[in-house]
Amino acid sequence: MAQTRDQALKDRAAKVIPGGMYGHLSMQLMAPNTPQYFERAKGGYVWDYDGNRYIDFMCGFGPNLLGYGHEEIDAAFVEQLKQIDAAVGPSAHMIELAEAYVDQITHADWAMFCKNGSDATTISLLTARAHRGRKKILLAAGAYHGASTWNTPLPAGTVPEDRANFIYYEYNNPDSLRAAADEAGEDLAGIFATPFKHEVFQEQLLPNPEYARAARQICDTKDAILVVDDVRAGFRLERDCSWRSLGVQPDLSSWGKSLANGHAISAVMGNERAREAAKQIFVTGSFWFAAAPMAAALKTLEIIQTSEYLERSIKLGERLRDGLASLADTAGVPLTQTGPAQMPLIMVTNDQGERDHFASQNFCAGLLQHGVYFHPYHNMFITAALSDADIDHTLDAAHSVLRTLPAQVAA
Ligand code: PMP
Repeated sequence: MAQTRDQALKDRAAKVIPGGMYGHLSMQLMAPNTPQYFERAKGGYVWDYDGNRYIDFMCGFGPNLLGYGHEEIDAAFVEQLKQIDAAVGPSAHMIELAEAYVDQITHADWAMFCKNGSDATTISLLTARAHRGRKKILLAAGAYHGASTWNTPLPAGTVPEDRANFIYYEYNNPDSLRAAADEAGEDLAGIFATPFKHEVFQEQLLPNPEYARAARQICDTKDAILVVDDVRAGFRLERDCSWRSLGVQPDLSSWGKSLANGHAISAVMGNERAREAAKQIFVTGSFWFAAAPMAAALKTLEIIQTSEYLERSIKLGERLRDGLASLADTAGVPLTQTGPAQMPLIMVTNDQGERDHFASQNFCAGLLQHGVYFHPYHNMFITAALSDADIDHTLDAAHSVLRTLPAQVAA
């Protein structure tokens, strides 16, 4: 078989990019022949360099909330680009956007803007520590908060001191959280929590309200800062901070990915309590004040407020989940589907319910052949731009692939 263009690109990359690819786009644990490079994206679809179109259930790992190449959002971006973008200072969009988020997000009295989720979580970390000049931060064991020295998942290049002042608790376990807070004693600066447990390779867990309330209560009692890391789930569960439905408001929330539907901007939002600390820290970046992504974020927020995008993505996710469950049942393939329907993690398991990586890879590799891009071990994202016909196509594809899997699962 002739070499694919994607493989030719991978071969070139291997010479000039360390490891060929790094970070979350590394292909090491993906099915062989998963495309790495993409030439075009529109709505809910991406096209690889070999002309194959895929229904995309990854949404760029989050940013594609409303559809790739969204005409109104991209027009707002381009218009602003023509006017002024990264310059000696920001445009008035910065204030307008902060005002809009303060109106939209219940706990927010102010906002700061940056580029990536890691910037936003690091600003939250500095603010929490600056609040009372304390050191200890409680993190849920295994939770992903970015790729800075304090939170990168691999140890290479970091030193134990980078993590000297973190205490790890078990997500959703109020007793474990209280024990970690006791250990921090008078030196507790803050608690970080993701909206739900969305680690790779593991079943996702929705938050237990008792745990969320315990986090709030500890921070109130100890005058520490509660941070909800909404980088991944922001605006995918709520049109507000994701813990709104639990009745728990954080002091700080970190945002990124979906804010401008793919344009580069992230944010930290905070309440009055955290304002003084946020004034003291020094954080900045050459591109943080760029106007075009802010114009795109304002347009994205307007669509978030005025459309049924959220209800639609939930409905599409539920159709997918129900359809897959019934197909897997008929085919005798154990499939676990966890997390919110619009952010599902779907894995093939063995009879004991343990994740079967090889079978999960095969499931994804089979779907690729039918023009469907699934991920074998990371949660996926459902964009409101998909149609019911896309879900039907995906279920038809799954029907064909699942029939070929049982033998492999058993083996
Ligand atoms: N926090 C969470 C919960 C995330 O999911 C991510 C990215 N996957 C980050 C922080 C880091 O965001 P970024 O990759 O934009 O730096």
